[in-house]
Formats: sequence, structure tokens, C-alpha cells
Amino acid sequence: MGFITADSVKDSYDVVIVGSGAAGGQTAYTLAMEGAKVLLLEAGRNYNPATETPMFHTSNMAPLRATTTSDKPLGFFDSTVGGGWTVPGEPYTNASGNSDEQFTWWRARMLGGRTNHWGRNALRSGPYDFKPYSRDGLGIDWPISYEDVAPYYDKVEMLIGVYGSNEGLENTPNSSEGVLLPPPKARAGERLAQHRGKALGISIIPIHRAVLSRALDHQTIPAKLHPHNVKAQKILAREMQARAACFWATDCGRGCSIRANYQSTTVHFPPALATGNLDILPNAMVREVVLNAQGKASGVIYIDKATGKDLKVSGRVVVLAARSCESARILLNSKSSQFPNGLANSSGMVGRYIMDTVGAGLSGQFPLLENLPLHNEDGAGDHVYAPWWLYKEQKAGKLDFARGYHIEFASGRRMPNAGELTALNNLAGESYGSGLKDAVRRYYGSTIAFSGRGEMIPNDQSFCELDPNLKDRWGIPVLRFHWKWSEHELRQVAHMKRTFTSLVEAMGGKVISQTTKYGHAGIRPGGNVKHEVGGTVMGADERKSVTNQYGQTWDVKNLFVTDGGTFCSNADKNPTLTIMALAWRSADYLLSELNKGNL
Ligand SMILES: Cc1cc2nc3c(=O)[nH]c(=O)nc-3n(C[C@H](O)[C@H](O)[C@H](O)COP(=O)(O)OP(=O)(O)OC[C@H]3O[C@@H](n4cnc5c(N)ncnc54)[C@H](O)[C@@H]3O)c2cc1C
Ligand code: SF4
Repeated sequence: MGFITADSVKDSYDVVIVGSGAAGGQTAYTLAMEGAKVLLLEAGRNYNPATETPMFHTSNMAPLRATTTSDKPLGFFDSTVGGGWTVPGEPYTNASGNSDEQFTWWRARMLGGRTNHWGRNALRSGPYDFKPYSRDGLGIDWPISYEDVAPYYDKVEMLIGVYGSNEGLENTPNSSEGVLLPPPKARAGERLAQHRGKALGISIIPIHRAVLSRALDHQTIPAKLHPHNVKAQKILAREMQARAACFWATDCGRGCSIRANYQSTTVHFPPALATGNLDILPNAMVREVVLNAQGKASGVIYIDKATGKDLKVSGRVVVLAARSCESARILLNSKSSQFPNGLANSSGMVGRYIMDTVGAGLSGQFPLLENLPLHNEDGAGDHVYAPWWLYKEQKAGKLDFARGYHIEFASGRRMPNAGELTALNNLAGESYGSGLKDAVRRYYGSTIAFSGRGEMIPNDQSFCELDPNLKDRWGIPVLRFHWKWSEHELRQVAHMKRTFTSLVEAMGGKVISQTTKYGHAGIRPGGNVKHEVGGTVMGADERKSVTNQYGQTWDVKNLFVTDGGTFCSNADKNPTLTIMALAWRSADYLLSELNKGNL
């Protein structure tokens, strides 16, 4: 078993998984390590970070000094080798022509999906986040609570390696003792924010990030993650030793060839493949799930991109992990006489309640950070963040919006690309010669970008459906999006900007730019933060949800969804750690049901 082509697919598998990002990676890992025979299909090409990551390239080695372009919107060296804001031949549409009602869809089409270049901010959702309706009467409660997920957060953190600290703040859960790796020190600009933020009542603490600040404990973790499974323990111990600790000198968005940060390609797949239980088939674009005469899923039909042929693979269980809206699209395209409106859609909820993270930003310049001694601050993104701090005020009705946001900080002297140097030129007011050099030395590292990441409340106007007219290059109907921010999100963004301005002033700086280019006074468009969740929400009532608490669809018991589609809310905490924790939980349940013969 290993990487295969369409010719070498076996007759049948225990489980067929669609998608290889955080959800598909975690699902495949858990199932293969525990003995299930798994086939994973990925629409994008194979990708090997060890050999392909341009980790040590400098900006001068790239066109336009590596700055962002329409082809490489996250910079020339970003690890997205397939996909982005557009995927050739695979469009999507928006129902509304109104610029405030657009959903923008970032799709990574490659092995590992978005995990190759995600920001690695790995925050737990807290107890309030699973019961939002009970707390303020808006949105919907999850059918599970924080306590159901907490053991799986611990497991994922131990497996992938997450640094951070336990601060005991409200609705910002601690990890179990010994689970987190030590956080790196705050950078100069981050320390200034920490110090001055206190006066505003904002605690700025070490962020939780999926980066190895030291080697993983390969002697004790494998037995904790796979008790009674000696083979899995040995494989995992070996793979943990093959991952080096971070050396804090390169840009994680290019991927990490030494496996010091989490991407499914370097963390989930190597051990899962080493079990001999996992086949991975790249360039396989799944069109639909197939049902047998008993109404159970019997496999999927995919297009082999090498030949353009429609082919079928069979499995006892099918898991969709293609990312939230892609999984909804596959379900909507799986029509049959039993499910004329799409598979697992007897509730009519497939595609409903899609959410993104609320995003807005502002940058400041700080005289206190000018002319600092030359030093390097590359590596691993921001080291600190500010969790939402106004839960009590919000509960008491003192704010004009529901649900909070956290603040991320981009500061420091990291290797600049041409775009950043242009911004510096503007700041310095010099564009040539020794005046420019002096100005760059003075100003470089003296700016900080503040990003708000807030919770969106699910609403009836934000959903996806099949476009009745348009198909992609594979002949598959594409998605049409409907999108609307509510007053809660718009007021939240206004609050973000007031807070950032106050922080800048408290730090002795001045505001130099903010996200006013977007509509609705600067909120980033739906999908723009690239944290899409919802569309196949879980619930306790099968009339109002697509899956149960394990991601098992109500209508087809051997069909599961393990990506963010099942989210009932989208807390300000970035979603990926929760996606992986829930995927592990679903896979445990799936295995036990499979072994009992219930699937
Ligand atoms: C620039 C950026 C920064 C981010 N930063 C953070 C962060 O700091 N913290 C955080 O929590 N999250 C972050 N995210 C979000 C994070 O990447 C996603 O939440 C996570 O990757 C979701 O995992 P997934 O498996 O659902 O989807 P993906 O990682 O997108 O993987 C889905 C895979 O399925 C494949 N696929 C899709 N359709 C089909 C089909 N029909 N057939 C076969 N295969 C298919 C895709 O090609 C893809 O490889 C960031 C995302 C981006 C883009
Ligand atoms: S900063 Fe660390 S984790 Fe990130 S790419 Fe460099 S070595 Fe890897």
C-alpha cells in the first residue's frame, strides 16, 4: 500500500475517504493506525514537502522579489502548488451581484490541502462555544459539549505538537498537564503590546501554534495515543523522532521540509502509510457517493484526472473530508430516486449555515520600535495573541454585538518581500540612495499589523446550493453561494477597529493603514479568512441537521462527514484544531461501529 494510481486500486476497502487536508489526514491516520484498510482520494496532485518546499530561498531568488501576484496571492514561495482564489476550469458563482453579499472561495488543490500553508494557530474552542444558543439565544447549540471534545484536543495536540501556555482565562481552555510544548519568547513589538495592553484590560498571552518548539516526547506519547497497539506505538515513535524541532528562521507558509510544523503531508500520512493500511490516490476528483440497493453507501465515483475517465471505488464506509462546502457539493450532486435533492439531505439542511471567520485589520507604526539593534525575528508567525476578554461585559448587555474576537499580531524583523519594502519606502518618504537606506534601518520592524478574528453567527441567508446552469471542466455542477453578514458581525468589526486604534495609541504609535477597502466599513468578504465551516451541520434532531454528533449522516448510516461542515457555530478560535479533534472522535466511533457490524 502507499501512493497508487487508478490501475492499482483494490476491489474494496474498509473505508474510502475523500480529501487529504486536516480532516482527511486525521481520519486516515486514526483509522489506518488502528488497523482499518483505507483508501484516500485527493483531487490535487501529490506533494512532498521534504523535496518541494522552497524553504531556504531568499526573496531575491524569485520574480518581483517574491511579492504577491494574482497567480501567487500569498507570495511567490507560498506552498500552494495547486489552486488558490481560482482553480482553472473549476469556477463557482454568487447569487447576488451586491459586493457586500459575495462569498470568496480559497481552494488548495494538492495533497494536504490547506494544511501545507495554514497559519498553524491551533486554538481550542471553549465551553461557551459549544452552547452559544443557550448563552445568548442566537444561532444553534452543538449536540456535544466541551467535555466531549477535550480528550481529543489533548490527543491531537500531543500528536501534531502544539506550543503555548495554560493561562486559565475565561472560555480559553487549558490543555492537560504536560501536553503543550513550551512557547517561544515574545518579540520586541509583541512585548510592547503585552505591556501597554494591560492598561486597556487586554491580556496578551502566548499563542497556541502547531510548531515543535522542541522535539516530541517519542517515549511516552505513542502509548498514550495508541494504548494496547504496539505496532502503532512503534511506528509513531519512529516518525516522531524523524521530526526535527523548529530553528526559527524560515516562513512556515512555505511548508516545512524538516517536519517541524503540522501539515497532514508530514505528520499524518507518514505513520499512516507505514502501517501498510493506507492507499493514497492523488488526481482523483470525486463526483458523487454511490448507494447500493439497500440504501447504503457502496463507494464513490471519481474522475481520474490523468485519463478523464469516470471510475468507481468501493468501501464498506464512505467518509467525506473534502472541506465544508466541497463535501456539501458532493452530497448535493449525489442524487438518486431515494434522495432526489441530494444525499443525506432529507432535512433540506445540506449547504445551509455556512460560516467564515469575521476578519478586519489595522496597522500601526511605533517610534519605540525604531532603530532597534539588528536582529532576526523570522519563524513561526506571531508568538502571542489576545483572547477575547469581554465575556462578562457582553453577557451583561454592555456591547452592541454578540460573540467575541481575538487579536493576532504580525510584527518583527522578518525577511521582507518587495511589497513590504514598498510599504517601507512610503513610510520613509525616501525612494533612493543613502536616505532610503537610513530610513529602512530606522523603520524596518517598527510596524505591527493587528488582525481581528471573530465569531460569525450562522444565518439563513448564508448557504450554498448547486448552480442550475454551470458545470466545471469535469462536468460536475458547481456551487452557487448566498452570503450575508448580520449587524452583529458588522458591529463587531467596528469594535475591533476602535480597540486596535486604542492599542496603537497606548503603545505610543500612529495608525498607518486599515481594511477600509472592503465594503461594510472594512469587514473582509465572506470566505476571505479561509476558515469556512458549516453546510452539513450536526445536531440532536435529524429534522434540523445533516449528521449526528459523530458526523454520521442521519440518512445513510455508513456515510460520515469529518470536516468543518458539521460545525454548528464558528467560534473566534481558528477552526482546524477542532476539525482534527472531531475527526479523531468520529473515526473512533466509526471503528467501534464497524467492528460491531453496525455499518
Ligand atoms: C492561508 C491560510 C491560513 C490559515 N490559517 C489557519 C490558522 O492559523 N488556524 C486554523 O485553524 N486554520 C487556518 N486556516 C484554515 C485551515 O487551513 C483549514 O481549516 C483546514 O485546512 C481545513 O481542513 P479540511 O481538511 O477541511 O480542508 P482542506 O485542508 O482544504 O483539504 C481539503 C482537500 O480535499 C480535496 N478535495 C476537495 N474536493 C475534492 C473532491 N471532489 N475529490 C477529491 N478531493 C477533493 C482538496 O483538494 C483538498 O486537498 C488557514 C487557511 C489558509 C488558506
Ligand atoms: S519556522 Fe520552524 S516550523 Fe516554520 S518552516 Fe521554519 S523550521 Fe519549520
